[in-house]
Amino acid sequence: MVDTIYRNLRRPDGTVVDLSIADGRIAAMEPAGRIAPGRAQVVDGSGQLLLPALVESHVHLDKTLWGLPWRPHSAGATLKDLIANERRVLREINVPIEKRAGSLLENCIARGSLHIRSHIDVDPELGLRHVEAMLSLREAYRDVVELQFVAFPQTGLLIQPGTAALMERALAMGVETVGGLDPAGIDNDPIRHLETIFDLAAKHGRGVDIHLHDAGELGLWQIERIADFTESRGLAGKVMISHAFCLGMVPTTQIEALGRRLADLRISLMTTAPSDIAAPPVAFLKALGVTICCGSDGIRDAWSPFGNGDMLERAMLLAQRFDWRKDDELASAFDSATTAGARALGLAGYGLAPGHAANFILLPTENLGDALARRPHQRTVVSRGRAVARDGRFLEPRQR
Ligand SMILES: [Zn+2]
Repeated sequence: MVDTIYRNLRRPDGTVVDLSIADGRIAAMEPAGRIAPGRAQVVDGSGQLLLPALVESHVHLDKTLWGLPWRPHSAGATLKDLIANERRVLREINVPIEKRAGSLLENCIARGSLHIRSHIDVDPELGLRHVEAMLSLREAYRDVVELQFVAFPQTGLLIQPGTAALMERALAMGVETVGGLDPAGIDNDPIRHLETIFDLAAKHGRGVDIHLHDAGELGLWQIERIADFTESRGLAGKVMISHAFCLGMVPTTQIEALGRRLADLRISLMTTAPSDIAAPPVAFLKALGVTICCGSDGIRDAWSPFGNGDMLERAMLLAQRFDWRKDDELASAFDSATTAGARALGLAGYGLAPGHAANFILLPTENLGDALARRPHQRTVVSRGRAVARDGRFLEPRQR
């Protein structure tokens, strides 16, 4: 039975619709005025822009210092310096993950992300502590947000003996996806690294999400090997490569065949739209059929003081990174923060269609381009038919 009707909502194409909701799902979306109210509660959308809930495809909730006093950045310049520095910082602050990650999660929800993939550090020093905390956090917010996890070997896989076994235990505990990290640059043994994570994924019927920072030819060679393993282990459609800076370091003619291979194997890419290093040429690869989503990566943590969890802002940064200004280009940037993210994460029933979860945001903006350009603080976030955030504030706070 329909319990709520949202009236007078504007779609990006300018049409005005009403949305009826039953048991947290979209029952119907019809031109304005066609849905009879019956006994349902009626909410006037006042012509606000209706957009699907945002998808955060790559974040590290367990690392964040969100909600804590400002901490000056203390790391050296290399990847290894950053990793060692983070261990020091997290040891020193000693604030429970549930509190730090919970505060950030509430902020992400308040800005409209209702589908989130978070990586979780797993290594012999931390054991499964971060995994346990994040699983309990997921339970605490299960009614509001869809969280999925990646077991992430942040300090290395082969160079930290015991990590693979811990990752396997993390999968048994409920983590969905097997992570990886620079098979060459960090582990110095790319084939054995890839063999380990792909075998783990194949054995448990899971996907893989690899952080690949390795540059130039070395990075490209590893993407070829990732494609080989995806093919040989039967994991087409279940693999994501995060960052993949190397794809932006050579002329596009040099990556065309590789791009087609990624598209064929449905290997998706995640970019943060970095400003300090090359990024995969998004428009070129999308035209070949590659799914490219975007994510925040670390938000206010020992890696960087920046990030605010607003995926509308991330879409704007993506557009800005490639100097996109036209409406169709802005729509493509928005796609990376919504539909492409949902496809990359394998979400079922995502988007504004009857039968899908009633997860959407309402914005006082003229259209999609205006939404990306202004990213107003005023927005209503509706999760499973229920308004859970308004004007940047989560309405059901669970962190004190
Ligand atoms: Zn990351």
